[in-house]
Amino acid sequence: MRVRRGTLRLPVNGEEVSVPDSPHLRCQKCREVVLTMDQARRLRERALETYRKEYELLTAPEIRAIRKRYRLTQAQLARLLRLGSNTISRWEAGRNVQTAAMDVLLRLIRDIPGSLDYLRKHAA
Ligand SMILES: [Zn+2]
Repeated sequence: MRVRRGTLRLPVNGEEVSVPDSPHLRCQKCREVVLTMDQARRLRERALETYRKEYELLTAPEIRAIRKRYRLTQAQLARLLRLGSNTISRWEAGRNVQTAAMDVLLRLIRDIPGSLDYLRKHAA
């Protein structure tokens, strides 16, 4: 195994994201790419950041600020948006990133008065 750098691809929200200049190991016999834990973690971080920038998504602190403004728990906001209960905490911790469609909903909550009440009336 030799350490190399090159473009690797990782799926984010079902979309392949290219991350250039990613350190990784490659077998010289079969050319299989293997990542150390640290390389894999860093690749994931960079893929999420690339995806977030591509769609100009809200950042993790911005999402947290919207939620706090309305005094919602992560679970409450997840329920209003009909998401899995851990989804908001993953966004806020940077372990995952919202889709562009969910980003629009978050901006509606932030910018349009009454939108949260509307969601509450229609929440599952
Ligand atoms: Zn091999």
